Order: sequence, then C-alpha cells, then structure tokens
Amino acid sequence: MTVKILVPISGGKDSQACLKLALQQHPADQVRGLFCDTGFEHPDTYAHVEKLRTLYGPVRIDTVCAGDVLEKSKKYGRFPGGGARHCTDELKIQPTKRYCKALAQDQGSSIASKKRGIQGSEAGGFEVWYGMRSGESPEREARYIGKVCDEVYAPHEVLPSKYPKYLAALGVQFRLAVLDWSEQEVISFVGLHDLNPLYLAGFPRVGCFPCLASGDKWKEKAFGHDAFGAGQHAKVIQIGAQIGKSVWTSKGGKARNENNPVCELVCNT
Ligand code: SF4
Repeated sequence: MTVKILVPISGGKDSQACLKLALQQHPADQVRGLFCDTGFEHPDTYAHVEKLRTLYGPVRIDTVCAGDVLEKSKKYGRFPGGGARHCTDELKIQPTKRYCKALAQDQGSSIASKKRGIQGSEAGGFEVWYGMRSGESPEREARYIGKVCDEVYAPHEVLPSKYPKYLAALGVQFRLAVLDWSEQEVISFVGLHDLNPLYLAGFPRVGCFPCLASGDKWKEKAFGHDAFGAGQHAKVIQIGAQIGKSVWTSKGGKARNENNPVCELVCNT
C-alpha cells in the first residue's frame, strides 16, 4: 500500500498529535512514522516510541540512526548550542531527507512524472506531517508566519536552507498539521495518560536527554533525574574533557558545576 502520510516521530507530544490525527483521517496502511534515533534519548522515550506503534492501532514506525550526539560533538570539537546544531542536521534533517527521497522513488515517483503533470501521491509522493507549533517559541512564530495547518507546502518553502527543491519535484509535500494549536490543545487531544512520562516528570520538551543545546538548568535537571541521567552526565563530562569544552554555557551553570568536577562526577553518578 502506498504511504500517503509520513509522520516524523520524536517521542514528544506534538509529533504524537500529528500521528493520532493522521490515523484518524487515513487508513493505517497509508500512514508511516519515522523516528530518527540520536542515540541520546531517555529509555522512557524509546519505550514511548514502541508504545506508539500500537497505541492508535498498529502502524509502521521506521527507525533510522545516523550516529549519535556525542560522536558528532567529538567530530566537530564542540557541544551543540548557540548556532551549532550539527546534531539536528546530521542526525535528523539529513536522514529524513534521504528517507523521503528513497520512499518517494520506491513508490514510483520521479521528476519525469512530475513534468508529465502527475503530482503528489498519484506519482508516489506523499505528505510529511511535521509537529511544529508557532506557540512554541517566538523564533518558530516568526519562521512560520503566513503558514496555516490545512495547507501543504513544498519542503523548501517551509525550511529553505534545509530542504532541497528536488523533494518537491518528487512529490513530497509538508503539512504543519498542528501549527496553530496551543500546548493545552495538544495535551487534551493526546491525553495526559498517553504522554511520554518525561512530561509528567517536569520536562517541558522531549528529545535528547538532555538536549545539549538547551539551558543549563534543564541539563542539570536531566543529569540529576535518575540513574540514566547520571550516566549521561558522566559520558558528557568525559567527552568534554576529550574535546576541551564545557557542556555548561551560563555563568551560573559553570559556577555550580565546574568548580569541582571530580566531586561533581562522584556526587551525580
Ligand atoms: S535535541 Fe538537542 S542535542 Fe538532540 S539533536 Fe536536537 S539540538 Fe541536538
């Protein structure tokens, strides 16, 4: 059966809402999830992605893994943060691009058929339902200004610097299915009991554990959360020593955590 809707799954609530919405509107065999594993997720997130395979009825979710966050930090000699999001680019955007291209071609899409006037899913193309929301941050609001939930866009119209025009030529279209939803609307739609448990533990965002590009207080919270977080802390300190960089970016974060790294490591592991 031809895939008509591809939903990039992060383990977070917005992509979960997109998956649920897609499965309400399309037969499950026309919907597929795609999980880009960064090798740096919490076990609760991996378990949650597993749960999503059956939560709304059986649906195929493919996993792709193009390395891990710490390996990328070593490769670039720095942790993600500021303008540097080498991890997002190499572990999420590039693998998604490759996956979309391969799926469209597998389904019979070609630039030649587009030129002959056969478009979208008729030519093997499909929609990618991304769970971005304008309300998430002022940057996202500015980035998606003028876009609406119900329209489809060429990938390069949504993220011009990230997605090439050839995807549109293969019939791949993006839909920002929950773009104007509030956080509360997403939670109500998904249901508190069906959220990734990390939300209930007080983490407002789910992705890497922790996202190394996030603020120091979230890194501290994750590293102190449980044994897994403590293990992540130990790994990050080790890589930081190898590349000569600190994972802490704020004055307070450095003051709290860099004064006695040996004690810090022992106390948190
Ligand atoms: S969640 Fe953070 S650390 Fe993980 S890939 Fe995205 S920017 Fe990088």
